[in-house]
Amino acid sequence: MSNAPRRAGRHFLQIPGPTPVPDRILRAMDMPVIDHRGPEFKRLSLRVLSGIRTIFKTASPVVIYPSSGTGAWEAALLNTLSPGDKVLMYETGHFATLWKNIAVKLGLQPEFIASDWRSGADAAAIEARLSEDKAHTVKAVCVVHNETSTGATSRIDEVRRAMDAARHPALLMVDTISSLASIDYRHDEWGVDVTVGGSQKGLMLPPGLGFNAISDKALAAAKAARLPKSYFGWKEMLAANKDGFFPYTPATNLLYGLAEAIEMLHEEGLDRVFARHERHAEAVRRAIRAWSLEILCRDPKYYSSTLTAVLMPDGHNADVLRAAALDKFDVSLGTGLSKVAGKVFRIGHLGDTNDLTIIATLAGVEMALRLVGVPHKPAGVAAAMAYFAETARGDN
Ligand SMILES: *Cc1c(COP(=O)(O)O)cnc(C)c1O
Repeated sequence: MSNAPRRAGRHFLQIPGPTPVPDRILRAMDMPVIDHRGPEFKRLSLRVLSGIRTIFKTASPVVIYPSSGTGAWEAALLNTLSPGDKVLMYETGHFATLWKNIAVKLGLQPEFIASDWRSGADAAAIEARLSEDKAHTVKAVCVVHNETSTGATSRIDEVRRAMDAARHPALLMVDTISSLASIDYRHDEWGVDVTVGGSQKGLMLPPGLGFNAISDKALAAAKAARLPKSYFGWKEMLAANKDGFFPYTPATNLLYGLAEAIEMLHEEGLDRVFARHERHAEAVRRAIRAWSLEILCRDPKYYSSTLTAVLMPDGHNADVLRAAALDKFDVSLGTGLSKVAGKVFRIGHLGDTNDLTIIATLAGVEMALRLVGVPHKPAGVAAAMAYFAETARGDN
């Protein structure tokens, strides 16, 4: 028991994942645990295994691990590659770096295209590197779709075109952990071989599920892949999934939640979900500019619609601001990670959010800026409100 007095009202969890879980999903998960080898589980599992494909926009299988997103990253590499294989990865930020570190630990040879953490992956740089690789020693290209440490979204369609232009046969693997179900994503159309996902961001679920969407080409690569694997092996998982079962105990109650999340996304319509996120992101950017603060992502082409990282003025620590926002206004903002620690804070605007969630969050930030004495113009919330009022339509 804590000695802190109870805080009334709802906490504002405005970090870029985990995101607030809607009541409907909480209720859907509030079920007795069932026999994961029985007929009721089979019905649930066949429903989510087919429904989740519509979210990745794929006709291929999607496997669901009881793991965090990190497990799904590891699974993508383990199932498709062999010791010493070269992989081309792009340093969009902290999460791309973590994925690269996994590749190193697994005995792969990642080549990391460096960046300053202020934009998305440059498809032309990927094309140039692949064009040099006449012997096709690079076995996979790995890109983080939405870099959660910086708020930059890479153009996967452009990366695909760059790989095709270089006539390179490498697999394309994409991390969509903080973009899936919030920013348009097309596993099949963009020719992605393995898409990595997680439950706790756009899917509005608690943490605990990791996803791999798997193309035919990735399945073929899996047959020859020699990295040792056990828990994360696709083969056993896919064989069991065919009949609606898992090779080990699945996260049953999270799967009830997943079924509900998929239903909610379709009730709203994926295109409307994406438009809602774009609109909220634009309101947040207008607020930041009105405060006279700077957005970390330098190029509007790569602006993320799920989160925005804000640069602090020199001499001001982002974590002091975040601590005040949490302590005084009960809003959690994202911290700056590794290279940008203390220099940025991140506003999450993804998942189950509406206009007033965004306005309240921005109000919390604006009040905290004032409270801790960060120089700014107190005009951000007003700018966001004006934008929302001007763009309010019947369908959002
Ligand atoms: C959150 C996140 C991860 C890590 O997922 P965990 O569930 O914490 O393991 C990886 N990549 C991206 C882009 C993320 O946003």
